Amino acid sequence: MSAAEAVTDALRDLHGRFAGVREGRRADYIPELTRSDPDDFGLALVSMDGHSYSAGAADTPFSLQSVSKPFVYALALASLGLEEVSRWVGAEPSGEAFNAISLEAGTGRPANAMVNAGAIVTTALVPDSREAPAFHRILTCLSRFAGRKLDVDEDVYASESATGDRNRALAYLIRSARALPVDPVAAVDTYFRQCAVRATAVDLAVMAATLAHGGVNPVTGERVVPPEVAAQVLAVMATCGMYDASGDWLLRVGLPAKSGVSGGLIAAGPARFGLAAYSPLLDAAGTSVRGYAALGALSERLGLHLMKNPALPGSTVTLVTTADVLPSAPSGRRERALRGRVGVVAAQGALDFTAAERVLYALDESGPERAGSVVLDLREVTGADSVALELLHAGLSRLAREGRRAAVVDPGDRLGPPDLVRERTGQDLPRFGSREEAAEHCAQALAAPG
Ligand code: GLU
Repeated sequence: MSAAEAVTDALRDLHGRFAGVREGRRADYIPELTRSDPDDFGLALVSMDGHSYSAGAADTPFSLQSVSKPFVYALALASLGLEEVSRWVGAEPSGEAFNAISLEAGTGRPANAMVNAGAIVTTALVPDSREAPAFHRILTCLSRFAGRKLDVDEDVYASESATGDRNRALAYLIRSARALPVDPVAAVDTYFRQCAVRATAVDLAVMAATLAHGGVNPVTGERVVPPEVAAQVLAVMATCGMYDASGDWLLRVGLPAKSGVSGGLIAAGPARFGLAAYSPLLDAAGTSVRGYAALGALSERLGLHLMKNPALPGSTVTLVTTADVLPSAPSGRRERALRGRVGVVAAQGALDFTAAERVLYALDESGPERAGSVVLDLREVTGADSVALELLHAGLSRLAREGRRAAVVDPGDRLGPPDLVRERTGQDLPRFGSREEAAEHCAQALAAPG
């Protein structure tokens, strides 16, 4: 028994809560899918550190079906870029079923890459390369997302290929509008193979976690797609991933997600978790009934709804005062008065845009009548991203232009190397190892201006 088993317990708990649900039915338009066990029900969660938790039939393999779509969209985006891909496939929710003829009037461009029409086009956009044919590239990409070598369920592939005339018809329609760059038969064949790639709920959770983790597989550490591609895919999953139930899902569950007709379902909490469920009984929109219920409850329980703003940052500024009240302040009247004209601001934690704004606001507020010198103590700051640094440099440079001298306590060089700070702030910002030294320096400088 380990402490982290508590996470598994939470999944087991949800599993127990929904395992008895008997609503829904298996997809039978691909005959092979009716061979799945309707009682199968697996849940998996993978953290941003690559820790994996699961309950139930999380190691049972099944075909990805439409859960493959966001990952092949990612491959197309990574190969061709958003502008080129968007010429061929849109990013608007269709509000229609997965197999609808969702094509833009006039251009024939499919509404988005999550419905079949758009996914067939996306698949067709992945070019054969000199090293590998397109399907091999797709399988390799899906495998890198999962962190292990995946394979094709040949029976499912054959079954869909034998019955997939509607998808072929869609491909011909798109081709007739000159919106498909390749032969319709070949495009649909590759698409069927991609839908028949086999994986487990745990694999799916790793794949979702890779998108949530900015394109780096948190288990293998491999970068699979660039961060901007991961963000683009999550955005389209959020608006289109659940077909004509996408709006309702975003409203209630609040996570980018993708369902598939074999019963797989993924959801991604950006920078938090990858989640997956497997249960073959589907609702009218083609989504796993138990999967929907369990991931919805999990999002609620873990507070994952994107619009809930769970990440309101903790306190950044820990102190705004003047140097005369620091414990080390000298007792002489003149010295104390000088120290009273030195503001002191201390910050902590990781600085991003939101945190940097707080620091700058505190600098303005510090000191008597928002004047005098100011000490910025960054000892407790653990890091600053590039946006925060740019803002801090610009703020310190404004402060200097208003005639307020600053000194920083920055033994960890959180503001960046001195040369960069000089260039960005237009001044030699004095640096000290302690708040007291910095305060003393500022007080002396006020005593001997110029
Ligand atoms: N291969 C399936 C089809 O094209 C995927 C549909 C789905 O999973 O929603 O019909």
